Amino acid sequence: VIAAATIVVVIAAVAAMLVARADDPGLDASATSTTARPTTTEAPTTSSPTTTTLEPVAPSPGHCPSIPARRTPDPDRPRYTVRVDADPATGEVVGDVTIRFTPDLPVDELVLRLWANAPRPAQSGAHIDAGPPTSEGAKLEVRQPDPTTLEVMLPRRAAAGRVVEVSLPFTLTIPGPASDRISRSEDTLRAGSFVPLLAWEPGAGWSREPPTSAFAEAASSPAADWSVAVSVPAGYTVLASGARGSDGRWAGSGMRDFAMSIGRFAIATMTAHAPGPVEVTVGARAGANPSSDAFARRAVAALEDLARRFGPYPWPTYTLAITPGLDGGIEFPSHVMQGAGTIGRTTPHEAAHQWFYGLVGNNQGRDPWLDEGLASYAEARVDATLASFQEKEIPADGRGHANAPMAYWEPRQGSYYRSVYVQPVQALASLGAPDLVDCALALYAARNAFRIATPEDLLTSLTVIFPDAAARLAPYGLP
Ligand SMILES: [Zn+2]
Repeated sequence: VIAAATIVVVIAAVAAMLVARADDPGLDASATSTTARPTTTEAPTTSSPTTTTLEPVAPSPGHCPSIPARRTPDPDRPRYTVRVDADPATGEVVGDVTIRFTPDLPVDELVLRLWANAPRPAQSGAHIDAGPPTSEGAKLEVRQPDPTTLEVMLPRRAAAGRVVEVSLPFTLTIPGPASDRISRSEDTLRAGSFVPLLAWEPGAGWSREPPTSAFAEAASSPAADWSVAVSVPAGYTVLASGARGSDGRWAGSGMRDFAMSIGRFAIATMTAHAPGPVEVTVGARAGANPSSDAFARRAVAALEDLARRFGPYPWPTYTLAITPGLDGGIEFPSHVMQGAGTIGRTTPHEAAHQWFYGLVGNNQGRDPWLDEGLASYAEARVDATLASFQEKEIPADGRGHANAPMAYWEPRQGSYYRSVYVQPVQALASLGAPDLVDCALALYAARNAFRIATPEDLLTSLTVIFPDAAARLAPYGLP
């Protein structure tokens, strides 16, 4: 049993390393483009945020239309109030969360995902225990059909529009290193997607996609507001999602997850104009090469370029932690984790995820290509590497399957990167002039901001400019 299990673990780890390396070969071309790009405005919209249908945009074949005002977050979005004590020396993260949730459909339960119990963190022995939950002082029943899914039974059905508030304690144990979002190594702690997360897709219901053992995500969660108090022993610095207020709490608005990196960092700060001011804070080990300054310059350049193409960066801060034992990068809203050797492709790729995953969410278990394909396309535009993406061969078991869910890639992890990252870039590039594709993606971002978008939502925006988009994308298996 031990030997077999070890072999399985080794195979999975090797496959994951191949994926992670493929994602970050360290290309380092500079971005130069002088073409006029679409801009968006920050005017608030008056459309109902919970509606799943969007106002049509007039067809504009072959031309970039004026981009409508970006959608604002749902006023009834969830709110997480969190307290955590984290100690890198022991790997213990102990806390509690109160979740205020207003469903737009009637619910009998809350489905919370415990992503820290997913297969990759579990390989290094990481584990989260959450509960028992309470609501209005009463203890609630729970079911845990699998390690990543916690079903909290409500005492009575909650009608659509009715506020539900549930509190629960949690204990996250991070015994050692993993090339993933839950990891402890040396004096560094990475903790991403560790707070029990509402798996709600407005208009659709609960997302129950299985976790993946790949270097990937299977999460889906609505944009929410966060207030997180993080306490750490003296001498450590926290970099996290959101902005640290004068009360010491990390606060973020319209964010679908929360992550933090804790270490003894040399800090670099810069301001990006994307186009509003964005405070960029990078932490890396003192004396690291590349330094936190070098990463900060690269991140600022990427954020500014991306904002010119796809609309304003959505938050006032961007934090980036360079920590040991991470082969690539991992994106969270306004916080990114990268390994020491990833200043090349990974920096613009993870920055691009702030638009495609962070701002415009998707069900990453069902439609992993939607954020990975678009982040890869955006990365290629920032670094002017579209041609190298177009040259890459797509594996036979991935060709025409760009839209497959993570469950399909679970046994095909060697094909995952080229099929789900590269193939959609080739599909988008086949539509026409890259500046027009950028424009269509800016339209998609404005119309679907702070939502969980579907492949059909993307097709709708592409079709405004490329009337034959459906026929052109079909050979790639899209949408
Ligand atoms: Zn990515």
